[in-house]
Amino acid sequence: MKYLPVIGLEVHVELKTKSKMFCGCSTQYFGKAPNSQTCAVCLGMPGGLPVPNKKAIEWCILIGIALNGKIALHSKFDRKNYFYPDLAKGYQISQYDMPFAKNGYLILQNGKKIRIRRVHMEEDTGKLMHEKINGESVSLIDFNRSGVPLVEIVTEPDFENAEEVKEYLQALQQIVRYLEVSDANMERGEMRLEPNISLTVKKGVLPPYKVEVKNINSFKFVEKAINFEIKRQEILLSDGITPPQETRGWNETKNETILQRVKEEANDYRYFPEPDIPPIQLTNEIIEKLTKFIPELPNIKAKRFKSSYDLSSYDIEILTRDKNTADFFDKAVLDGKSFSVTPKQIANYIINKKPDIEKSVPSEIIKTILSSSKSNTIDEQKLTSVIEKVLQENKNAINDYKNGKTNVIMYLLGQVLRLYDEKIDPKLVKENLEKYLNNN
Ligand SMILES: [Zn+2]
Repeated sequence: MKYLPVIGLEVHVELKTKSKMFCGCSTQYFGKAPNSQTCAVCLGMPGGLPVPNKKAIEWCILIGIALNGKIALHSKFDRKNYFYPDLAKGYQISQYDMPFAKNGYLILQNGKKIRIRRVHMEEDTGKLMHEKINGESVSLIDFNRSGVPLVEIVTEPDFENAEEVKEYLQALQQIVRYLEVSDANMERGEMRLEPNISLTVKKGVLPPYKVEVKNINSFKFVEKAINFEIKRQEILLSDGITPPQETRGWNETKNETILQRVKEEANDYRYFPEPDIPPIQLTNEIIEKLTKFIPELPNIKAKRFKSSYDLSSYDIEILTRDKNTADFFDKAVLDGKSFSVTPKQIANYIINKKPDIEKSVPSEIIKTILSSSKSNTIDEQKLTSVIEKVLQENKNAINDYKNGKTNVIMYLLGQVLRLYDEKIDPKLVKENLEKYLNNN
C-alpha cells in the first residue's frame, strides 16, 4: 500500500456511580420505564442547577492516573453548545481546555506507546427511539440516560492499523473494569468507540483531513469500520481526490460506513465555562490519596505472574483477563503452597475446568486438585497388598482363571477396587492384576 493509515480514537465510558453526574437521579436506567429516572436538572428545565458528583470526578481522575496521565490541579467544566433533540438543555456539560487528565499513554504488547491526549468528564445524553405508532413514523425521547457520568478518553493519532486499535481497546476495557469504575459492557452502550481515520503518504506527516466514525459498539465493528475506511479513502486518494473531513456512521448490515454530516470544528460548539459550577481545585495530597485506590493493574499483574509463578503467556493472559479470576488464582496459590500444589497445576485447573469462582473458594479447588492427582498416581505397595489379599480369599477364582475362564478377572477387579477404597484408574488395576495372575 502506498498510503499509511493514521488512526486516532475517542472512547466514551459510562461510570457506574449510583447517581447521575449533576443530579441525584439513579444511573440504573437499563430496562426502566422511559423518563422514569429524571428530574428538572437532567431534563434540562430552566432553572435546574447542576451539582457535580464527587465520586464520578474521583473515578475520572483514577482512570487518568491508571493511564499514566498528568492530573490537573486546576480544572473546570464547560458548556458545549449544540442542538439535538436528545440534549434538552441545548448544551452538554463537558470539559474543554482544562480536562482532569492530560498526556497519558498506554503501551501495547509490541512495546509501542499509544499517547493519550486527554481524559475528561462529561454527561451522557438522552436516547432517541425511532418507532411507528398508528402507522406514523415518530421519534420518541427517553431521558433516563441523560446526565449519566461519561468519561471521554482521547488518543493521539498513533495507531497504524485496526489490530493495534483492538488491542488498545481491550486493554482499556480491562483497566476500567479493574478499577471497578465501569462494567464497560459494550452491548449496553457503556463503552462506545469513535475511531478517526486518514491516510498519509509519509510516516509522521498528518493528512489535511480526517474521517470520524461515530458511536461504534463492538470491537469487531471498529475493526471492520477502520479497514473499510482505509480502502475507501485509498480509492479516493488514488484518483487524486482528498477525502472530505466528515463524520460517518457504521452500518452493520451493509458492512460499510455511511456519511452522517460534515465535521464540525471546535469553535462551532461555542464552548464557554459552565457558570453554574465553580472551578475544581485539587491538591497533590488528594491525588496521592486517590492513587492509593488504584489496584495492581493487568500489565503489572501479568509481569508478577510471570516472574513469581513461571506461567506461560497464554495462561497469564487468561488468568489476568478479569480481576476476580486473578485474585482467586493468587489466593489458591497461597492455599496450595502447604500441600505442594504448584501454581501451574492451579492455572491448569482454572483454565481447563473453568470452575465458577463466584461460587467456590480457593481451598476447595486445592482439595479437588489433590484428590484428582492422587487418582492418577498409584501407591504400588498398597495396590500389591490389596491384590494379594483378594487373591488369597479367592483361590477358586485363580484356578478358574488359569483354566481359561479369564472373565473371572472382572469379579476380582471389583473386589480390589472395593478394598482399595480410594479413587484409582480401573485400567491400571486390571493390568496389575493380570500381571500378578500370570506370574504366580
Ligand atoms: Zn436528574
